[in-house]
Amino acid sequence: MSRKQSANPILPGATIGIFGGGQLGRMTAMAARAMGYRIQVLDPDPACPARFVVDGCIEANWDDSREAANLARGCDVVTLEIEQISLASMDAAANYAPVRPGRAILAVIQDRIEQKNWLRKNGFPLGDYRAVNSLDELRDAIGELGGRCFCKSATGGYDGRGQGKVGFRSGADPEEEARGAWEALGEGPGVVEKALELEREISVLVARSPSGEVKVYPAAWNHHENQILAWSVMPAPLTDSMATEARQLAETIADTFELEGILAVEMFVTKAGELLVNELAPRPHNSYHASERASVTSQFEQLVRAVCDLPLGDVSTVQPCAIANLLGDVWLNEDGSPREPKFDAALAVPGVRLHLYEKHRPRKGRKMGHLSGVGATPDEAVAAVLRAQELL
Ligand code: ADP
Ligand code: MG
Repeated sequence: MSRKQSANPILPGATIGIFGGGQLGRMTAMAARAMGYRIQVLDPDPACPARFVVDGCIEANWDDSREAANLARGCDVVTLEIEQISLASMDAAANYAPVRPGRAILAVIQDRIEQKNWLRKNGFPLGDYRAVNSLDELRDAIGELGGRCFCKSATGGYDGRGQGKVGFRSGADPEEEARGAWEALGEGPGVVEKALELEREISVLVARSPSGEVKVYPAAWNHHENQILAWSVMPAPLTDSMATEARQLAETIADTFELEGILAVEMFVTKAGELLVNELAPRPHNSYHASERASVTSQFEQLVRAVCDLPLGDVSTVQPCAIANLLGDVWLNEDGSPREPKFDAALAVPGVRLHLYEKHRPRKGRKMGHLSGVGATPDEAVAAVLRAQELL
């Protein structure tokens, strides 16, 4: 992991552009500000979370290539926190500033079918899946894969949206379930995946700079509820051989793409002991929010370093840290009326911190913030953050 000194680092004082002003853009902007950069973002929502911590916000859609070019004109480098940015916008921006990560990786990961085909073609381990384009193909795929499946739209899904599950409810009518899944994935191209027996879910974050320096974080262990990340802790408790396998997978994927930036590789550890790739996200990732406290260098600072072609930061672990997501549900009573979370009670738990994204409208399932907690072991960190969450 030696590195050449970058001939052309983008130094503090320069301006970083970010496609997307959600919480990931906001936390990246906060890290960049701390290092003395200026930040411009592009987002369709003028009240996006990054709005309050950046120098300027261009209000535009992801496919507005004219405004993408305008963003890049005012910036020394452009990065992203969302995957939906159109390739035409990426290209328009690239005429004025380096865009990192670039279009090649985006073109592959924007489409779940392309992404899986790319992973398979390059020899990375994956669960069984079929690409489908019609209800008939979906039905056949479910039959071939053995009944219990996740059906996912090719584009635009996140936090389990654009997905339907089949074969999980006993007594359910298979034809009805197939139709429901086809509807859930938007009646368009998608993938059907065999439902795997999971021992655990992990993710591995890898950073790679334009000069080719690579750093891989220790894995995070991720617990999902209703297909949304509920809590995550790092480092993940893994055997040495599994940890090595996971880091090598992430590093090889980043090298194959010649990544410039950071990439989260979501992985499944199956009950049979296999390690399989689930999906890729070339941006900051919810499962590495704990890196702000667990690691010498947070994922957000690492992204800034990577896209500015600075030396990458140390990824060693300072202390085990866990995060628990705060969804809009926490701000709502059972009947949908608003409630005030008891932040004072949660913050009384030793070592717990609160991170809110300044989203003003809580909705069920919407990520509004997270709590973080630390401990002598990963288990203790999880226990602390869950105790705080219960007190809310
Ligand atoms: P998203 O883009 O919404 O994160 P994912 O493909 O990561 O979509 O699915 C969300 C979650 O659903 C996963 O983290 C996992 O908990 C569960 N899941 C998805 N696919 C499978 C599968 N094939 N087998 C078992 N669980 C799955
Ligand atoms: Mg996922």
